[in-house]
Amino acid sequence: MSGDRQNLLGLSRVQLENFFTGLGEKSYRARQMMKWIYRRGESDFDRMTDISKTLRERLKEIAEVRAPEIVTEQLSDDGTRKWLLRAGANQAIEMVFIPETDRGTLCISSQVGCALDCSFCSTGKQGFNRNLSSAEIAGQVWLAKRLLGETTLASERVISNVVFMGMGEPLANYRNVVPVLEILIDELGFELSRRRVTLSTSGLVPNLKRLADDCNVALAVSLHAPNDELRNQLVPINRRHPIRELLAACWAYAEKHSNRSITFEYVMMDGINDSLVHARQLARLLRRRPAKVNLIPFNPFPGTTYRCSPVRRINEFRQILLDGGIMTTTRRTRGQDIDAACGQLAGKVKDRTTARLGDKLGIQVKSA
Ligand code: SAH
Ligand code: SF4
Repeated sequence: MSGDRQNLLGLSRVQLENFFTGLGEKSYRARQMMKWIYRRGESDFDRMTDISKTLRERLKEIAEVRAPEIVTEQLSDDGTRKWLLRAGANQAIEMVFIPETDRGTLCISSQVGCALDCSFCSTGKQGFNRNLSSAEIAGQVWLAKRLLGETTLASERVISNVVFMGMGEPLANYRNVVPVLEILIDELGFELSRRRVTLSTSGLVPNLKRLADDCNVALAVSLHAPNDELRNQLVPINRRHPIRELLAACWAYAEKHSNRSITFEYVMMDGINDSLVHARQLARLLRRRPAKVNLIPFNPFPGTTYRCSPVRRINEFRQILLDGGIMTTTRRTRGQDIDAACGQLAGKVKDRTTARLGDKLGIQVKSA
């Protein structure tokens, strides 16, 4: 039971300091608490032995460390894991872990659904339900660390990268996302390198400008089209913030952060945005800029009419960008057999029941 308890999970160092000083405690309590929660994955105040017994008793009354509850876990043939987490009654979000030889990437969600309605995205098609709290966002990383049996030793780190590429538009939930970015890179928090924390956005320009001042993490921008006419159709937010405005904010972000490259995501859809003319237009937009491109094979989902571009076209498209001097990679699709690939994360929002969800996924769903 949570009652009105303050969830300490999701509070950044400054927020924890404010919490403890508000209780009349010294601010160094925040640093102790950070280590317990984020580094050691502890949720039981009784085990936090360097905190006085009196304070622990008080914390038990007024606070808690509570992550979202797991509804299901699925394992793909390629080792990708997907968890469905409860986000309130009859609502769920998804989180995916992708192990690779040189890294382990955790893909997290920032909202239940998404309001931006990109035409090729399953999450977008579900509509928007609500923002996740900082506790629910940081709680995903916290849970995954526990579930993957991660230790506090850097050499045994399982999660080396965190990407905001799950459900939702992180910059549309700015207030709750920024403290989590801080926790991810805080040396007393999840202690990740800032180059290994990637915020992916479809281009909420005003908040992108704010982010440049507030936090320094890697940026991925969902471009998907090299001209406004096409991007207006694929990524409707482009009607409000067209490509020129978006790219200007991107270059300003890069400049502020020692010209570290921005990754431009480009979902390859057959006959839609994958012609060689599109490739040349894209090359022109990004030439001589701190930019690299990640081509993402379109991942289908029920009800979509889009198809993924043929491999040969993706390779030709890539070659044009490379010839234009733009570093370009093609993303390998992972976890497709469990619908864990980009843009397939739908969670189940609104009034669908978890039972029906279980039917759909063909898996056993734990009841609430
Ligand atoms: N809202 C943010 C982050 C979540 S989406 C954003 O749009 O950037 C993460 C990435 O998955 C984005 O690049 C998005 O365009 C991509 N994506 C969405 N639907 C997809 C699909 N069906 N196939 C492949 N990638 C998709
Ligand atoms: Fe939202 Fe990103 Fe999907 Fe667009 S691609 S609908 S911004 S989650």
